[in-house]
Amino acid sequence: MCPLCGKANDCAGAAGRSHADCWCMKEIFPQEILKQISKEYLGKACICKKCLEAFKRNSG
Ligand SMILES: [Zn+2]
Ligand SMILES: [Zn+2]
Repeated sequence: MCPLCGKANDCAGAAGRSHADCWCMKEIFPQEILKQISKEYLGKACICKKCLEAFKRNSG
């Protein structure tokens, strides 16, 4: 699940599939949003699309 909102993030890795197929591999996650995640989740739980899009909208 998404470490920011706690909802499903549709991450292939989290669903037990290859992370290479995950949508998150095709997205760019800004450093600023990664800083909001605690270290224990970094590289394990993907941020969901909603949070990524909301962040991009807010940061312009
Ligand atoms: Zn989220
Ligand atoms: Zn993923």
